[in-house]
Amino acid sequence: MNPPAKGDQIPQPMRSDGTGWVDLGPRNVMRDRQNPNMLVPPVTDAGLLPNLKFSFSDASMTLNHGGWSREVTIRELPIATTLAGVNMSLTPGGVRELHWHQQAEWAYMLLGRARITSVDQRGRNFIADIGKGDLWYFPPGIPHSIQGLEEGCEFLLVFDDGHFSDLNTLSISDWFAHTPTDVLSANFGVPESAFADIPDKQVYIYQSEVPGSIEADQVESPYGTVPLPFSHRLLAQRPLITPGGSVRIVDSRNFPISKTIAAALVEVRPGAMRELHWHPNNDEWQYYISGQARMTVFIGNGNARTFDYQAGDVGYVPFATGHYIQNTGTETVWFLEMFKSDRFVDVSLNQWMALTPHELVASNLCVGPELLDALRKDKWPVVKYPGYGYVP
Ligand code: MN
Ligand code: MN
Repeated sequence: MNPPAKGDQIPQPMRSDGTGWVDLGPRNVMRDRQNPNMLVPPVTDAGLLPNLKFSFSDASMTLNHGGWSREVTIRELPIATTLAGVNMSLTPGGVRELHWHQQAEWAYMLLGRARITSVDQRGRNFIADIGKGDLWYFPPGIPHSIQGLEEGCEFLLVFDDGHFSDLNTLSISDWFAHTPTDVLSANFGVPESAFADIPDKQVYIYQSEVPGSIEADQVESPYGTVPLPFSHRLLAQRPLITPGGSVRIVDSRNFPISKTIAAALVEVRPGAMRELHWHPNNDEWQYYISGQARMTVFIGNGNARTFDYQAGDVGYVPFATGHYIQNTGTETVWFLEMFKSDRFVDVSLNQWMALTPHELVASNLCVGPELLDALRKDKWPVVKYPGYGYVP
């Protein structure tokens, strides 16, 4: 057995210090190429951290006429107890049927446009068209629907419970199918024959016609519309521009209905990183929209593990553990970080150190004036959040 020839394009589990050895197979080289920090972990990785990555590409697909969906829940990623995610696409006219569930639903439109509908507990309705970069939020138990417009759409749904499954919600078709027809007749005051053709089980997603204009589709409620809008234009929100990228933060301060999910849409340009930080409120659930990145999560007591991420991957960070997200590719990384919380909060390592007596920092870490100068000038090419409080 010879060591690999120089210039070998097949990645090998070997370090330049001579540790490791060539993997002659069986192996999944495509997987190894996607996970260079798994194949050859940084020497600073140590200990036993659970898995913190799951790709939607490894999730089971549900294909219907009208669209598809797949989900990453606690089944796929057992550590993700706080939030679950669904990636869904609807054709032009495709409908995610009228339904509701016990969990709140937060959504980000990735591509295309959709029309969403909802009615609250006081009969106030909400009918709106959603475009790329827009959000919606449906409170727990509030019924709703989603329909693709002319170009169809793809979106990410996030639910405030890791056990959520979109295949296990309360659907209008399912309820009709499991209610005695004479009860339906009595409830609506029409003959039982009116229900002769109702679906015999949950419809979930189905193909329909592209709806007309939003004006033509409006239904006037005697109780008006919902007082707090169920949608928000996140991409249209003025970003916080930083040397390494940009950040748009959305939580109950600027999207008041969103009481249980807070989020940030983060842009990390090539060569930049989302700085070392942690969150003092809850776990973080991530969705990668574009680019390639790596993240090391440090959980204390000598334990740290590094993962690689790309578009369509989900990442997870346990409550209050330290992490960074570094762009490892040539394209801009866009990702969402989400929290089961009414507020987005984080603690910056740089800021902590900059605002602590520098003699103490220097003696604790055995670092010299170079690092202290950098902290004072704060000149590092990082994606940073605002230093002294956030104003929406
Ligand atoms: Mn829903
Ligand atoms: Mn974070």
